Amino acid sequence: ARPRLVVVGGGPGGATAARYAAKDGAIDVTLVEPSRHYVTCFHSNLFLGGFRSFDSLVHGYGGLEKAGVRLVHEAAAAIDRDRREVVLAGGARLPFDRLILSPGIDLKYDSVPGWGREWEEAMPHAWKAGRQTQILKAKLDQVPDGGLIVMIAPPNPYRCPPGPYERVSMMAHVLKATGRGRAKIIIVDPKEKFSKQGLFQEGWESHYPGMIEWIAPDISEGLKSVDPKTGTVVTGFETYANAALVNVIPAQMAGAIARDAGLADASGYCPIDPASMASRADAGIFVVGDAAIPGDMPKSAFAANSQAKVAAMTVRAELIGARAFPARYANTCWSLIDIDDAVKVGGRYAPADGRIKEVEGFISQTGEPPELRRGTQAENIGWYDGITADIFG
Ligand code: FAD
Repeated sequence: ARPRLVVVGGGPGGATAARYAAKDGAIDVTLVEPSRHYVTCFHSNLFLGGFRSFDSLVHGYGGLEKAGVRLVHEAAAAIDRDRREVVLAGGARLPFDRLILSPGIDLKYDSVPGWGREWEEAMPHAWKAGRQTQILKAKLDQVPDGGLIVMIAPPNPYRCPPGPYERVSMMAHVLKATGRGRAKIIIVDPKEKFSKQGLFQEGWESHYPGMIEWIAPDISEGLKSVDPKTGTVVTGFETYANAALVNVIPAQMAGAIARDAGLADASGYCPIDPASMASRADAGIFVVGDAAIPGDMPKSAFAANSQAKVAAMTVRAELIGARAFPARYANTCWSLIDIDDAVKVGGRYAPADGRIKEVEGFISQTGEPPELRRGTQAENIGWYDGITADIFG
């Protein structure tokens, strides 16, 4: 019988791992994912800004089935590490020789006082794509000219470090383009600095003067609470009342399936061996994507895809003696600030000092000419098409 790989989670990490591990049919690969479609968080901000359709974010699993991956559309309820089995929500058990987990993040619903799962429609997070993305867009479309938007930004470490700041850029773009340029966006941030800060702030000043205000923790004196019934956000320094839209992006941790299996540390995320993406707690289980502790890499779809290839290569080496190469990783995060004005940050990485370490990095510069920024956005669009083909086939 062929050796068995089970993959849990059909996002960028899991789908890539399954597809690459299955490539010549030598391994019996099963992907466990409850949903029949995957909606990308990546480029969901472009949907918000009116630059993409919602449908263009939706991907099916037909390409994976064509590649020989068996799909099980059910949630994994538990990992039985002793018996080497995944227990499905319906009770069935899937035995494995190796397991790759890519469950993404869980939101810490209790990290924002006054907010919680029951308020995620009133104050959407849209940090998991799908219905939440559409709720956020619908609420943005209803913000009046002169209305107030408050974003509660998340603490580190969270998925997509530039994501909140690209999102407010897209909100401002839509407001301005639809005659609502007197609306105001306040970002209440628990962090003293954020990804690509100089680039975003330069862009906000030139494209959206006076529209976006970033409030650092020493100014806000911290977020105290929100009230979803009245659209109120209270910080130590200020009370924002009657907000037309509050976007709460809470603190995050690895998906429950990985934490419940005892693979996470006190940070809530899973330590891995940077040479293979194998869990530090169990060498036969690999954790990739947002659930893992990625060293110098950010939590991104690009990173998840890159880590998944290392895990799939290692599994193929261990199970069928396929050739393995030294682990190498890559990432780029593009962000759109306004039409044809995109910036990027990225790097190449390798295992060193017990973690995934940056070997070489790059970032857009302030004051770049418009042609360069336009080219950066063309790369961003090309990247989306390329990566989704690489993930889903
Ligand atoms: P996910 O994509 O979350 O996939 C996890 C999958 O596992 C889900 O389909 C879920 O249903 C499934 N799952 C969870 N638990 C179970 C279980 N128990 N059993 C079975 N299945 C389970 N990244 C970029 O590279 N570029 C970008 O431009 C970018 N923009 C972003 C913008 C926003 C607004 C956001 C929020 C994120 C953005 N990202 C971007 C980040 C990117 O979306 C994530 O890093 C990426 O989705 C992580 O992939 P993953 O496979 O780890 O997890």
